[in-house]
Amino acid sequence: MDFNFTEHEREEAWTWLHEQLENYYKNPKGVQAAPTLDIHSIQQHVGRFSFDHALPVQGALEHVLDGMRQYTVHTPHPGYYGLYNPRPAFPGILADTITATFNPQLAAWSHAPFANEVENYLIRQFGVKFGFPKERIDGVFTSGGAEANLTALLTAINHRHPDYGTSGLRGLDKQPILYCSEESHHSVAKAAKNMGLGSHNVRSIPTNSNFQMRADLLEENLAADLKNGLDPFLIVATAGTTGTGVMDPLKEIGSLAAKRNLWFHVDAAYGGAIALVEKYSHLLNGLEQADSITFDAHKWLSNPMSTSLYITRHKDILSRTFGMDTDYMPKEGAHMAITDPYAHSIQWSRRFIGLRLYLSLLIFGWRGYEKVITHQVQMGQRLKELLLEDHWKVYNDTDLPVLCFGKPEFETDDKLALQVCSTVLASGKAWISVYRAGAVNGLRACITNYDTQEEDLKELVETLRQAQPFQD
Ligand SMILES: *Cc1c(COP(=O)(O)O)cnc(C)c1O
Repeated sequence: MDFNFTEHEREEAWTWLHEQLENYYKNPKGVQAAPTLDIHSIQQHVGRFSFDHALPVQGALEHVLDGMRQYTVHTPHPGYYGLYNPRPAFPGILADTITATFNPQLAAWSHAPFANEVENYLIRQFGVKFGFPKERIDGVFTSGGAEANLTALLTAINHRHPDYGTSGLRGLDKQPILYCSEESHHSVAKAAKNMGLGSHNVRSIPTNSNFQMRADLLEENLAADLKNGLDPFLIVATAGTTGTGVMDPLKEIGSLAAKRNLWFHVDAAYGGAIALVEKYSHLLNGLEQADSITFDAHKWLSNPMSTSLYITRHKDILSRTFGMDTDYMPKEGAHMAITDPYAHSIQWSRRFIGLRLYLSLLIFGWRGYEKVITHQVQMGQRLKELLLEDHWKVYNDTDLPVLCFGKPEFETDDKLALQVCSTVLASGKAWISVYRAGAVNGLRACITNYDTQEEDLKELVETLRQAQPFQD
């Protein structure tokens, strides 16, 4: 096969692949929601061909699609009630095709000015939606919420200690400490490990009975650390926790951060999307006080993996944190009022990930998103009703469509949730997970799929009924 393919070969490949993908997309129930995890047969499938002999194009594609169909948890399946992974909306799929074809390099502004300005425009638009003053907004697209959270830690420490970039942590005279809740995403603690802060210097603040950070205990911890000569520098609150979908008390925590002059980061990876629904945007009151925000468009905005934003109200902090001078990077933009992303973020070579979000917004508009997010909230409420009717107990209280639930039997037997969960997965009809909500090892279901309908919810509740190994 010639590297370029002939026009005819390309046409054939596109046509065949298009038909296959269309069949998958229009009939997501044609596959089992979750695969059987038989590592031996999966590795056998992957290693079926050595690369000593080239395959015909269609044979290669068929082999890959077989693997994807058989050995993937299918987030486009309406029975996928997962960890915020969406059914990708179609504009994002088109966007990735365009991006891969043009292959813009976003590291230097002048190499991809359209793409860079699209991302800058989106950062400003979302900054405004989240309540930041328009003229102060800056930010960057990241490979995921984890990178956005790491960016938050790095900007917070550089804000506190302008010498951090040159002298490093060892150059500081006091130990910096960060605060988050025990329900915050583990990427925060991971970022602390990776930046050299050390996970011992992350205070995991206990939560109340609804899994929200306790501001009173936060204040106590802060006071104790200050008294002991430590250097609190950052509070991370979560808007839409990963496990239970609740909002930390943003207003209270934000005021505390302001009072103590600490950086206030809000991890709104999932919950930030509710800002697009007028009726519920009050749930994010206090978000506007943040110094920086993490937001994932590959969660509730149904973009393909993975499209994240780090947004800040400190216009110069990213350049101060990540700035570099090089001889070899393009200089065509040097005289313009632009920033080169390589000197403005963790990454260097950059993919045009913002196109998924841009194209989705061009095609659906804010209203399209408002409608679909509202539908998912309603499906969450409906699922709660159906579970309660079927004598399940719901452990969390949130307006977001995330449900942690179980039966009274779960409270005394940790294994029951796992057992029910694996029976549900084996049915092929749904994907749910196990989550320890406080003292109880329970089940967790989230409406992540924009196309999940009431009949799917009923099927889930029926599947759950059949999966429980005891009678009510
Ligand atoms: C998913 C999630 C993250 C991690 O984001 P990735 O995009 O998976 O890297 C961080 N914080 C919260 C609250 C999340 O739900």
